Amino acid sequence: MSILRQIAQLGHPVLRQETGLIGDPADPALQALIDDMLATMAEAGGVGIAAPQVYETLRLFILASRPTSRYPHAPAMEPTVMINPELLWQSDETEKGWEGCLSVPGIRGLAPRSLRIGVRYLSRRGEVCEEELSGFIARVFQHEYDHINGMVFLDRVASNRELISEREYLRLVSA
Ligand code: ZN
Repeated sequence: MSILRQIAQLGHPVLRQETGLIGDPADPALQALIDDMLATMAEAGGVGIAAPQVYETLRLFILASRPTSRYPHAPAMEPTVMINPELLWQSDETEKGWEGCLSVPGIRGLAPRSLRIGVRYLSRRGEVCEEELSGFIARVFQHEYDHINGMVFLDRVASNRELISEREYLRLVSA
């Protein structure tokens, strides 16, 4: 049975710490953590979640793009667990897009991200997967990849003028 985890909020040092490689994807404790992260992300209405956000300094995150009230135009995908993810290459071409974060409530910011990326990771069954991602899903990967490197999306925003409140953001996307 999965447990809803508390989500670390901006200012907690765990969001800025180094994370460790996962040795054994089959470890039952790791599998339980993955179930907890899936449940916690779904409950919070997130489109991704990284282990440091639930106080675990591990190289692990989940991508789960789908249309929500927070991201009405997001493409739908099966939630994908990524263990020890690597960013193999990224396009020089970038695009600014609005991002938010379960660890940074109430704020949205325009973050520039590569439009296309190549990634490698282990699935939760330990299989090596290599994929090319683009658009919003590539954006979510880059956001979560930052989390396992001690960064948050605010570090990518070029100017404070590109930060807005959640309420203004919702007004913008529903317009
Ligand atoms: Zn985040």
